[in-house]
Amino acid sequence: SLSNRLGDVFGKLRGRGALTEADVRAAMREVRIALLEADVALPVVRSFVDQVTELAIGQNVLRSVTPGQQVVKIVNDALTEMLGSETAELDLAVAPPAVIMMVGLQGSGKTTTTAKIAKRLREKERKKVLMASLDVNRPAAQEQLAVLGQQIDVATLPIIVGQQPVEIAQRALQAAKLQGYDVLMLDTAGRLHVDQQLMDEMQAVSRTANPAETLLVVDSLTGQDAVQVAQRFTDQVPLTGVVLTRMDGDARGGAALSMRAVTGKPIKFAGTGEKLDGLELFQPSRIAGRILGMGDVVSLVERAAETIQADEAEAMAAKMAKGQFDLNDLRTQLNQMRRMGGLGALAGMIPGIKKAQAAMAAGGADDKMLVHFDAIMGSMTPKERAKPEIINAKRKIRIANGSGTTVQQVNKVLKMHQEMSTAMKKIRKMGGLKGLGALFG
Ligand code: GDP
Ligand code: MG
Repeated sequence: SLSNRLGDVFGKLRGRGALTEADVRAAMREVRIALLEADVALPVVRSFVDQVTELAIGQNVLRSVTPGQQVVKIVNDALTEMLGSETAELDLAVAPPAVIMMVGLQGSGKTTTTAKIAKRLREKERKKVLMASLDVNRPAAQEQLAVLGQQIDVATLPIIVGQQPVEIAQRALQAAKLQGYDVLMLDTAGRLHVDQQLMDEMQAVSRTANPAETLLVVDSLTGQDAVQVAQRFTDQVPLTGVVLTRMDGDARGGAALSMRAVTGKPIKFAGTGEKLDGLELFQPSRIAGRILGMGDVVSLVERAAETIQADEAEAMAAKMAKGQFDLNDLRTQLNQMRRMGGLGALAGMIPGIKKAQAAMAAGGADDKMLVHFDAIMGSMTPKERAKPEIINAKRKIRIANGSGTTVQQVNKVLKMHQEMSTAMKKIRKMGGLKGLGALFG
């Protein structure tokens, strides 16, 4: 797997510091192979690797993982983001009937997926669905859809032999309007290869039916070839999304990345079996893991990040307990907190701080105030920061004037420092951060 290979590359490179360009490039050679093995199309691999290389160089290495593992995490996050970050639902918010048009090559799974989506809409969203097959090329294609319709209790448009796709689409649309259907699903004909006749037909149907969703159905096992197909459809038919079928097989998921990159459209569903309930909302993070085949590297790196935070909090708690936590430390902490996402992140970073946080909130503290706090501490002398108890009324006025704030705000900073020290001393008495689970978990 990728993590094993990276383990070899970085086996001896444990330690802190930033990811060097050499680290990243070495890891990326392995990532590149993993992506190609997962059937991601070559041009997509190239641009992805370039992007992530730039992103990864210079990032800090967590001390309990190898640089390789950390690069994998960065790659995984980038993959997930590229794959869409979240699940994408159908968008059927139009005047009914909302038309869903299914397009794709022959055998990609259009007819099966049409029935799967119809079943889902009927059962999960209580929609009244009509299905129509526009496949006049393959003998019995229309009957195939009718049989599936019976299985899932969804109506299909009566078959009239001799009608052409556009005529069938018109008739289906009319029937759906007259009979009050919420959704009309159009299952189109495929070809073994993309040809212009197919594209002309798809365009004509699309103009006639004006679909709310046009879903490109792609067999995830076709890997590299899928890219050309997707490109042709993208160029000629206004797609709104992609369905990847046969994700239950040994597809490595690479087609997902390629599809997303080529079509620029979200992958809405994954087909996970021949049965009609074999349809799932597409889960980008799961597929990212599958593409990299990296098992639990990601959670390993996440755990490492947590451990380091706990270590740092522990070290600070020790300092506080010994009365060594001064305003210099507070200033460092507040700035770090600001970088880490503001006050909301505070509780997670420094267990025991909830009381101080509550006190700050009660005093009207918000993230903007962190900026004031920094200015206030910047106006103190080093001696004042090291020994806050020497700050008397006269010094407070000077500090307030120097920082463009008020004595009240200066008091708030001093109070916060006090609260934090007290909280930390209590925590030490209770046995350190490890004994805190019961209180703060
Ligand atoms: P169409 O030509 O695009 O309409 O493709 P069909 O819907 O007729 O599907 C072709 C074959 O692929 C059928 O045997 C389906 O059962 C099968 N199939 C479709 N989707 C999936 C899937 O997600 N997983 C598996 N294992 N088989 C699928
Ligand atoms: Mg079909």
